[in-house]
Amino acid sequence: MATSKRAAKATQESLHRIFTIPEAPDSTLGRIEQEISQNLAGFLGDHIAAKEIALSEIEKDFACSQIPEDPSFVSDHMHHLLDKLVAQSVHTSSPSFIGHMTSALPYFLLPLSKLMVGLNQNLVKIETSKAFTPLERQVLGMMHRLVYGYQDDFYQQWMHSADHSLGAFCSGGTVANITALWVARNNLLKPEGEFKGVARQGLYAALKHYQYDGVAILVSKRGHYSLKKAADVLGIGQDSVIAIPTDQHNKIDCVALKAKCEELSAKNIRVMSIVGVAGTTETGNIDPLTEMAAIAKHYDCHFHVDAAWGGATLLSNKHRNLLAGIELADSVTIDAHKQMYVPMGAGLVVFKNPASVASIEHHAEYILRKGSKDLGSHTLEGSRPGMAMLVYASLHIISRPGYELLINQSIDKAKYFADIIEAHPDFELISKPELCLLTYRYNPAKIQQGIDKLTADKQLEVNKLLDKLTKYIQKRQRENGKSFVSRTRIEVEKYQGRKTLVFRVVLANPLTSDDILQDVLSEQAELALESQRFLPKLFKLVQQ
Ligand SMILES: *Cc1c(COP(=O)(O)O)cnc(C)c1O
Repeated sequence: MATSKRAAKATQESLHRIFTIPEAPDSTLGRIEQEISQNLAGFLGDHIAAKEIALSEIEKDFACSQIPEDPSFVSDHMHHLLDKLVAQSVHTSSPSFIGHMTSALPYFLLPLSKLMVGLNQNLVKIETSKAFTPLERQVLGMMHRLVYGYQDDFYQQWMHSADHSLGAFCSGGTVANITALWVARNNLLKPEGEFKGVARQGLYAALKHYQYDGVAILVSKRGHYSLKKAADVLGIGQDSVIAIPTDQHNKIDCVALKAKCEELSAKNIRVMSIVGVAGTTETGNIDPLTEMAAIAKHYDCHFHVDAAWGGATLLSNKHRNLLAGIELADSVTIDAHKQMYVPMGAGLVVFKNPASVASIEHHAEYILRKGSKDLGSHTLEGSRPGMAMLVYASLHIISRPGYELLINQSIDKAKYFADIIEAHPDFELISKPELCLLTYRYNPAKIQQGIDKLTADKQLEVNKLLDKLTKYIQKRQRENGKSFVSRTRIEVEKYQGRKTLVFRVVLANPLTSDDILQDVLSEQAELALESQRFLPKLFKLVQQ
């Protein structure tokens, strides 16, 4: 690390300087700023260390719990950050980083995000954000229209209305889901007669008043864990999120869903919300939303669609019908920081009915006055940055047809990858891509052909070994640093619903080429052959 011979000192002047005088262009910070804006990919490629260092090693660099007594010069500190932090970060924008939903960003977002940080607008209220508030309301309007497709007059009436909101912008899908279920809870357990509503009197009084023995949220077993957090913070309890079985395509089983609704109502448990998943996090599949909407209507409960990841598919005219029925939802979560290529911290929920957010409205005299257009009166978060501006800019710069191209090519790429997996004798496709996400594993041809003939015990043994092999390959590939796929454990129908370890791939980076995908598979096949531990044992099992 480059330590400075000059010693920085905390003085009135030096503090004044950091608020007024920019770093010189030839300072480390100035140089880095230039490098980043000229060639971000190159900069990251040069600085992120390919070699995997154990987290415990890295923790040593972040071990001191004392706030420094001595200030640092900015440039010196920048050296420190490059060395200790940047070098050990993850290259999420690399075209061969295909394991997660966090992806590459378009270049224009860098200068724009500087503008956002520089302006430091606080969206909690108009007094600290002015034009950012109508902008955010417009973004919510655009996303609302993308989902629900109402006409101009609807948006003219509601988009900027003080006592209404078409949705809530927030930090991500988790908060969006919490907000949606918060609205659902407060509308279900609303004030009535003497009862002042769950928001005022809490769940115990609410259940007593409405004479329910509990409330429940129903979602497929592929539902995102954020729903459990939501149930937890809303006081409903995680066990009230009830997992409904899925079919062999990872979509909710509507017969089982109806049966569960019947069972609960017989027990006097009120279904508060049915949640459809539009793009499950693990397999990318979409629930039958139209059918679910009808069930929700029948049981008179809030229908929420968690489209945090898959919602952006609505931007593709070619593929948006995959989400048919989403327009029947009372609320929809979409993460702009997933398939809309916006930096993290950009989630939103839209509500079909612009009046439904009234149930979560909060007011405070000094800040969120009644009748004001302050966005903070119906968001979970308080102070919030102007992230909506980055969504706004992306929607304008990329435009709907641009997004359509990005979405379409991601889906095409996933299909291509699925094809080469299926064509390869030693790989096994586990979940076919419906969007740009798929799962698979390495499974030698001989095993694939022989496994059916084995006893159940032997099959289990084979699958256990294959799990170990999958884990080994995934770890080694990550350590090699050329490419990255993630791994997850999902129930696989074909193997009697056994929880099976699989590779998971998300193909959103437009720079990921067919060649890269071929290389990913080749590397995995090589790693499998290299591993002396698993293959011989596997082959022995099928030969017996
Ligand atoms: C990612 C995701 C979430 C959570 O979103 P965050 O932005 O990580 O909070 C919720 N639901 C689904 C289906 C997701 O894919």
